[in-house]
Amino acid sequence: MSNTSQETHKTKDGLFAQVTTTNHEQIVFCNDNDSGLKAIIAIHNTVLGPGLGGTRMWNYSTEQEALNDVLRLSRGMTYKAAISGLNLGGAKAVIIGDAKKDKSEAMMRKFGRFVENLNGKYITAEDVGTTTKDMEYVKMSTDSVAGLPESMGGGGDPSPVTAYGTYLGMKASAQKAYGSDSLEGKKIAIQGIGKVGMHLTELVTKEGGIVTVSDINQASLKHAVSAYGAHVVDGDDIYGLDLDIFAPCALGAILNTRNIKALKCDIIAGAANNQLADEEEHGLLIKEKGLLYAPDFLINAGGLINVYSEVVGYNRENAMRDTENIYDTTLNIFNLAEEQNIHTQKAATLLAQSRIDAILSVQSTY
Ligand code: NAD
Repeated sequence: MSNTSQETHKTKDGLFAQVTTTNHEQIVFCNDNDSGLKAIIAIHNTVLGPGLGGTRMWNYSTEQEALNDVLRLSRGMTYKAAISGLNLGGAKAVIIGDAKKDKSEAMMRKFGRFVENLNGKYITAEDVGTTTKDMEYVKMSTDSVAGLPESMGGGGDPSPVTAYGTYLGMKASAQKAYGSDSLEGKKIAIQGIGKVGMHLTELVTKEGGIVTVSDINQASLKHAVSAYGAHVVDGDDIYGLDLDIFAPCALGAILNTRNIKALKCDIIAGAANNQLADEEEHGLLIKEKGLLYAPDFLINAGGLINVYSEVVGYNRENAMRDTENIYDTTLNIFNLAEEQNIHTQKAATLLAQSRIDAILSVQSTY
C-alpha cells in the first residue's frame, strides 16, 4: 500500500472520523450549479425504517457548521422515532443558503430529485427555512416527502399534536413529582408562545394551570393575555420565577449552567428541541439539583407521530391516539432513571437505543 492510499484510510480527524463517531450510515452531498442548490442529506440509522427528518435551509457561515448541524439533527431523529415506537429511522437534510433570497421552485424540485435517488431510504419534510409550499415542489420530483398540506392528503400543521404530546409529558411529570397528574393550580411558565407554545397555553389553562408566558412577539403576548388570562414576564426573568413547571417552547440549548442554577421549579417539560446545552453535563446538573426533566425528544414527538401517520395513511385521530403513549413512556423513563441512578436524558437515550438493538437482532436472520 502506498503512502497516499494509507493517507486516504486515515480516519482520525477527517470527514469519516466525524461520521464514525456519530455512527451515521450515509451522507449525501447534493450540488446543482443551475439552481444554486448545495444540500447535505445525513442518514443516521435505518434499522427501524426509512430515515425521516425535515429539510432545514439556513445561511450557515461555514460548510463545517452545516455538516455539524445535519449530523446532530439526524441522530436526534433516530432517537425520537425509536422512543416513540415508530417504524422510522433518523435522517435530516440541510440546504446551505438564505431561505428568503436563494430559494426557488427549481432548487426545491432539484432537491426532490436527489431525495428520489435514495429510493425511499430518506423521507423529507419541512423544517426551519422551508415551508409546506416548498414540499409541494419537492413532491413533484419524489413521493418520499411528508408534511404536506391537508388539501394534498397530508397532515397539515403538526403543532397541535406536538402541543398535545408535550401536555401529556407534563402531566406524567406532575404524576411522578406530586403523585397526581392534575395541573390545576400549578404555576407554569411557558417560554415561547409560537405555534406549539400557544396551543400548550390553551391546554394548560383549560385544566386550571396558572400560566406565565414570555415571547419576543408582542402580538402573541397580547393574545395569550386576552384569550387565556396569561401573565407576562420579560426575557430572562422567566428563569428566576417561583414555579412548579417550566416549559421551554422557543429555543434550543437554553438549559445551560447559569439558567439551571437560576431555576426555581420542580419540573422542566417543554417542546423546544435540544434544550440541554450539553446533554451529559446539564442532564446531570438538573438531576443533582433535584429537578425532574422530561426529555424533549420524547415529549415533543407528537409532530413526528403526525407526519408518520401521513406516511402510513393519514388519520388525525390515530395520530392523537399514538401521541397518548407519550404519557406512559415518560413515566417509564423516570422509573428507569431512578432504578439506574442516571439522568433522565440518558435514560431516554438508553431506552431508544435498546429498541433499535432489539429490532436489529430480529433482522439478523433472514
Ligand atoms: P414558532 O417559531 O412558531 O414559535 C417559537 C416562538 O418562540 C415564537 O413565538 C418566537 O417569537 C418565540 N421566541 C423566540 N425567541 C425567544 C426568546 N428569546 N424568548 C421567548 N420567546 C422567544 O415554533 P414552534 O413550531 O412553536 O416550535 C417551538 C419549539 O418546539 C422549537 O424549538 C421547535 O423546534 C420545537 N418543536 C416544534 C414542533 C412543531 O410541531 N411545531 C415539533 C417538535 C419540536
